[in-house]
Amino acid sequence: GLEGAPSLFRNAPGLWTLPALSAASHKYTRGHALVLSGPAYKTGAARLAARGALRVGAGLVTVASPASALPENAAQLTAIMLRPCETADDLDDILVDDRLNALLLGPGLGIGPATCAFVAVAASAGRALVLDADALTSFRSEVRTLARHIRDGETRAVLTPHEGEFARLFSGTEAVAEGLAKPERAARAAHLAGAVVVLKGADTVIAAPDGRIAINDHGAPHLATAGSGDVLGGLICGLLAQGMAPFEAACAGVWLHGDAGLRHGPGLIAEDLSEWMPAVLRGLA
Ligand code: AMP
Ligand code: MG
Repeated sequence: GLEGAPSLFRNAPGLWTLPALSAASHKYTRGHALVLSGPAYKTGAARLAARGALRVGAGLVTVASPASALPENAAQLTAIMLRPCETADDLDDILVDDRLNALLLGPGLGIGPATCAFVAVAASAGRALVLDADALTSFRSEVRTLARHIRDGETRAVLTPHEGEFARLFSGTEAVAEGLAKPERAARAAHLAGAVVVLKGADTVIAAPDGRIAINDHGAPHLATAGSGDVLGGLICGLLAQGMAPFEAACAGVWLHGDAGLRHGPGLIAEDLSEWMPAVLRGLA
């Protein structure tokens, strides 16, 4: 709840620890992330996210997409596996594989009831879940419905809205009341959704339903570029796949994304962020 002053942390390595590797690690112990892709011509976001999940250390990454998008994804992905998936029932069938332990839905999916149906299936599957972009906007003004899916599935969920998506999803709630500071809005949103909320921007606020809040300004304005947020969603999904808890995975993902932006600087495009991950991760060691 919001009673009592929530503790504010400046996000930094030290708030979280990345999963350790050992000689006994194999790809399944590093987790299997699934990213849902949009149809043909709306697939770039899912590929950006999938590469982020793989680079941050998920052992396996699968992109599930409508058949129309399979050739495009197949031509551009190599270490990432592909599955056909047209409907929420198809997603349900894919999730029979219980080694798929973290899911990302939203980028490129389109706004509407079909996306809501995917989210309902994903949230009831008992896997860690990242919702971004169209998965958030599809629940415009219906955050209580989304919260019910998350609660009923006892789902460890992370929502990653930018300010526009936040305003749409939480419109009509106490999270968008006039005059509230950004940490307070994110905290109220996390409480309403029953999920970790990552309210993005130059100062990204990460809020958990239990009242924990972190603020991350470790980043660079070069991150304001098409597809940047999709990579962030993939990083968080990849960390969840490795077993991190949602608040820690969100804090770590936001910091790693920001560090890649800082290291790269001018000329950054979203594709570069995952390529910089090895340097970012080495820098932590
Ligand atoms: P999206 O709007 O979904 O593409 O997400 C944009 C990503 O870039 C988020 O992670 C933001 O926090 C980050 N970002 C956008 N603008 C800035 C900025 N001016 N400074 C630092 N990070 C930013
Ligand atoms: Mg986005």
